[in-house]
Amino acid sequence: MIEYPGHMEVRAHEFRSQDLVAGDVVLDFVNTVTARDTEPIDWLDSYATLLTWARLAELPPAASPVLAAEAHAHPRRAARALADAKVLREALWGLFTALSEGSAPPPEAVARLTDSWRSAAAAVVLTDLAGRLEPTVTPETSGLAYPEHYVALRAVRLLENLPSPRLRVCGGRHCGWLFLDSSKAGRRRWCDMATCGNAEKTRRHRSADRP
Ligand SMILES: [Zn+2]
Repeated sequence: MIEYPGHMEVRAHEFRSQDLVAGDVVLDFVNTVTARDTEPIDWLDSYATLLTWARLAELPPAASPVLAAEAHAHPRRAARALADAKVLREALWGLFTALSEGSAPPPEAVARLTDSWRSAAAAVVLTDLAGRLEPTVTPETSGLAYPEHYVALRAVRLLENLPSPRLRVCGGRHCGWLFLDSSKAGRRRWCDMATCGNAEKTRRHRSADRP
């Protein structure tokens, strides 16, 4: 069983669109921890921050005042829901990094995702999306577990059709983000050229300049 790692530093963060570069909402959720390659920093410092991330990541419905009000009324339950979401997140990190390396998915991570997925399945409603029925969860059916449930359903869907060769871990220092390489050539090494790619180039230039 994967426990939420206690050693990880939690730091408040203002989420921006640049934090969603993975090419899939599930991987973007895993990337709410940065610097996994060195000293990981967890950006989800509260349930309210999780909701901010969810809004930015466009989890339907875009805004969820229902959950904000519920979290406000039940802070301990909200803290529990946040902790559960993080346990899923760490399991997904273990799962997808293993798959990116061509390794077998760790059984404990699969077991954890199965738990979240079962819990999500109990809250599922079939929604008509332009004539196509799709299993979805809603804040009304999932309650405070909505973000966890949503990610669990999407994770299973992603795993069913995972483009494994395109799944990468960013090579940037203090990053460690997961992403799907959607470039034509399929040789993307960085989560984002504008941040990690340039930082890496600058670093290389600097070390090359040194006598
Ligand atoms: Zn990166």
